[in-house]
Amino acid sequence: MPAVTIRSYNPADPADLVAEAPRPGAEAVLATVDRARTAQAGWLAAGAGGRSAALTRIAEAIETHAEELAELVVREVGKPIAEARGEVARTVAIWRYNAQAPFEASGEVHETAAGPGLLLTRRRPYGVAGLITPWNFPLAIPSWKAAPALAVGNAVVLKPSSEAIGVARRLGELIAGAGLPADVLTVLPGGAAEGTALVGAADVVSFTGSTGVGRQVVRTATERGIPVQAELGGLNAAVVLPDADFDQAAAHLAGAIAGYAGQKCTATSRVVAVGAAYEPLREALVKALAAVDGTACGPVINEATRDGITAAVDSAREAGAEVLTGGTVPERDGWWLAPTLVTGVPAEHPLHREEFFGPIAVLYAAAGLDEAVAIANDTPYTLSASVHTRNLDAALTAADRLDAGMIRVNAPSSGVDFHLPFGGAKGAGHGAREQGRAALDFYTQSRTISLLPAGDA
Ligand code: NAD
Repeated sequence: MPAVTIRSYNPADPADLVAEAPRPGAEAVLATVDRARTAQAGWLAAGAGGRSAALTRIAEAIETHAEELAELVVREVGKPIAEARGEVARTVAIWRYNAQAPFEASGEVHETAAGPGLLLTRRRPYGVAGLITPWNFPLAIPSWKAAPALAVGNAVVLKPSSEAIGVARRLGELIAGAGLPADVLTVLPGGAAEGTALVGAADVVSFTGSTGVGRQVVRTATERGIPVQAELGGLNAAVVLPDADFDQAAAHLAGAIAGYAGQKCTATSRVVAVGAAYEPLREALVKALAAVDGTACGPVINEATRDGITAAVDSAREAGAEVLTGGTVPERDGWWLAPTLVTGVPAEHPLHREEFFGPIAVLYAAAGLDEAVAIANDTPYTLSASVHTRNLDAALTAADRLDAGMIRVNAPSSGVDFHLPFGGAKGAGHGAREQGRAALDFYTQSRTISLLPAGDA
């Protein structure tokens, strides 16, 4: 048995060991990919009806175990129970939605340029999809990758985050119990070594996680000449105009900054108040953040993350920034941090540039919409953005000019619909979008077939 063990702990009670698994090692990854490649042919041959039925059974199995899964998500990754239940419900919806995908048209018919015959395009799966996922949406992200990959006939090898192996293992058990043929989907625990081996062996790779790791994954996959998509970190901005409803905007922003302790790639970490919006927004937002309680916020994932955030707040304060609320560590077990808003952060401070992945945001003042857009766009990590205004022209202008993969008007920057394309702009993402039709395209390759009459013998 491999010597090294992976362990995950409860972020709200670090003495609580949630799950452990032996680290399989790179050899085991290669063997798993080989078995998946063998199983894929049978899975494709199951046809649209067979694959659709299997995906529907998976949705039902998850729904049947919804409360158990939600509680495990709370325990293993510290997600507030309401959000954990929301993630389970969304996961069921993802599998149901993709259960219809096998019946989608898989190509087109065209006229020949000259002469009789038909030109067809047909999308076919690659083989084995290697999926590498983070801990923060331990059900939804593996599912929004695996469900479309399976729907179009690929086999899947999923390497989840070590911080979420308990949830991933349970998801794998439920999928197997729903009658998916052996080796069509395998959950393989592991860390960097197993992830690297998977990128080296799979036929198509989908990664979600931090920017540094994602870039390495993209480099390796690109050198192998296989398709790769990577969804990475976000430094998402919210722009608030002077005509906004400040109480509503503050409620949305407090949720986007501190909900699930800011550990969503779409969380707001930069708030830009335009002109006269600054004072009333600042007041409303400080009040709204101070009112966020532990049940809505939750702990951050581990000690290193919490200590990194408090060190950044302390160094910003020492350099002249003003901490408007939070910045403190509550006296309780686990990795808690009070929702935090900072302003006047010196230009070169990391709080402007790095994703801290916690309940913290920086407040900026902009003279007008042009300056607000410039501040919002002043980062490579533009995954999502929000705009808060009653002015339709301003909303449309901002939606046009903000460099983000998702722009939400009068809504929090966090929040994703499971059936629409999802992904970041600039350095926040690489390659094709996830979800919806875009995912079906990503997990297949088009071939063009010319069908001409044989003619008389
Ligand atoms: P991470 O990058 O540390 O890990 C992600 C996955 O990569 C894990 O499964 C990990 O084991 C694996 N991994 C680590 N090193 C590897 C290597 N060398 N090769 C291959 N795989 C390797 O990220 P995390 O801490 O689990 O998740 C948090 C990050 O994910 C944040 O940056 C967040 O913004 C991002 N995220 C992005 C999105 C999005 O859709 N854009 C969604 C959720 C999370």
